[in-house]
Amino acid sequence: MASILQLEEKIQQLKNEDPDAFKIFSAIFQAHSSEGHMKFPESFQEKAWQYFGIKEQGHIIESKDQVLNRLERQRIINIHNHWTGEGALFNSLRAERPGMGAAEREKEQSTIHKLIRDSSRDCDFCQPEKYTPEDVFGRLKGKHCITGANIAKYDTWSSIIFFDRHHPLEFAPEEVADYLETGWAWFLKVQKQDPDYTYPTFLWNCLPRAGASQIHGHAQILMSRRPYGKFRALKKAAARYRHQNNGDYFQDLYEAHQAVGLATGDGELGLVASLTPVKEKELIILSRKSPYKSEKVKKTIYSALRIFLDVLGVTSFNLSIMGPPMNQEDDTPYLVRLVDRGSMLKSTADMGAMELYGSSVIADDPYRVIEPFKEV
Ligand SMILES: [Zn+2]
Repeated sequence: MASILQLEEKIQQLKNEDPDAFKIFSAIFQAHSSEGHMKFPESFQEKAWQYFGIKEQGHIIESKDQVLNRLERQRIINIHNHWTGEGALFNSLRAERPGMGAAEREKEQSTIHKLIRDSSRDCDFCQPEKYTPEDVFGRLKGKHCITGANIAKYDTWSSIIFFDRHHPLEFAPEEVADYLETGWAWFLKVQKQDPDYTYPTFLWNCLPRAGASQIHGHAQILMSRRPYGKFRALKKAAARYRHQNNGDYFQDLYEAHQAVGLATGDGELGLVASLTPVKEKELIILSRKSPYKSEKVKKTIYSALRIFLDVLGVTSFNLSIMGPPMNQEDDTPYLVRLVDRGSMLKSTADMGAMELYGSSVIADDPYRVIEPFKEV
């Protein structure tokens, strides 16, 4: 199976066999690998073997030498995006680690079910018309959701879509489509009210690890005068790219991932497993069509979420949709970004100082992320 650990070989191969694709790849990314070494004192070898030995049904299936060998030489793949400044570090030791076992998965599922069941008693979001504030223009009702104001606003125009269902991980395609369509109706309403506000943002934080303060399924909708910080920086990077390279940054970003086997779809609607993910399993859907209007894009978002939850075993996630402003010509595509925020069984945060101020340290191999999407 393809692996991020073979990225350098893949790039070399690209250089020899497809110089055009290599040119696009290297215009955006720089990738290199190196090896870090360490030594184990006799007194720690047994413990290290137990900590890191790959287990099957509770038994370590590797010899002590195999495990120590892996630990003593760790390969690091370092990837940098020249335009956005995003960076990621993939460590062979983390990448080769097996995923959650069946017993652990079951434990996580039961933890989540208990949390969802307990939170459904006395849930304000189950009765939003009674227990949440509304926008000055009232509420918008979808088929499966209703809007309300955010009690502690992120920004001037900052509201919430309350899903009819309490269970945050259960949703059908028509429900996801309805959340997006209701979001769009709200953006139009705000724009009518306040024409200077033209940049729509749709966010979905699922479960507390992803920043949700309520378990009940909900999304955040915002309208701003200008794109928010990171998206604005991205748009600037794309403008610089056009100026210096005479190319479309987003098209080339898709093609660069495609060239190394990390993309599926096409330039109109493409899915990439990011080479510089913000955190685990980041998937980017690049779409020239509106995710609020196009049936195909809405379905793709639904499928991406289901694959995250049902195939990749994600429970807590962040989804973000940003794109062009509503009232001006702008060739920025819509970017739907989706990221895993880690297991509910873990008490440590998934992000530390490196992610906040340096490069993201990533365990999950993007080749394993894109695989189920390629099969669909
Ligand atoms: Zn509820």
